[in-house]
Amino acid sequence: MLSQQEQIEKRLEDMPETCRGHYRKAMKGRSMKAAITAFCLECVGYVRSEVDICTDIGCPLYPFRPFQAIPWKARKVKAGSGGFRVKAASDVSQSASA
Ligand code: SF4
Repeated sequence: MLSQQEQIEKRLEDMPETCRGHYRKAMKGRSMKAAITAFCLECVGYVRSEVDICTDIGCPLYPFRPFQAIPWKARKVKAGSGGFRVKAASDVSQSASA
């Protein structure tokens, strides 16, 4: 079994150079955005435009996927308990149609 570092190196070798930055940033554990980007890119075989036209609307990452033609309009909205939560694009479209 490969060590984590060996698995990381193997993955890096298998992906285009343009995608490696997102992956490296994600693997440092400091950016969920980079993790989502890296995962979506890997999911579609590293074809950036394919992430935008992803059809798996049931995927839990779908509302948060990067490279959408309509930029993800994340903004903080006040949650009931006084805290904040991030509003996803799908929330925006639902509230616009209501
Ligand atoms: S949102 Fe689409 S591209 Fe991203 S992980 Fe899910 S299925 Fe793959």
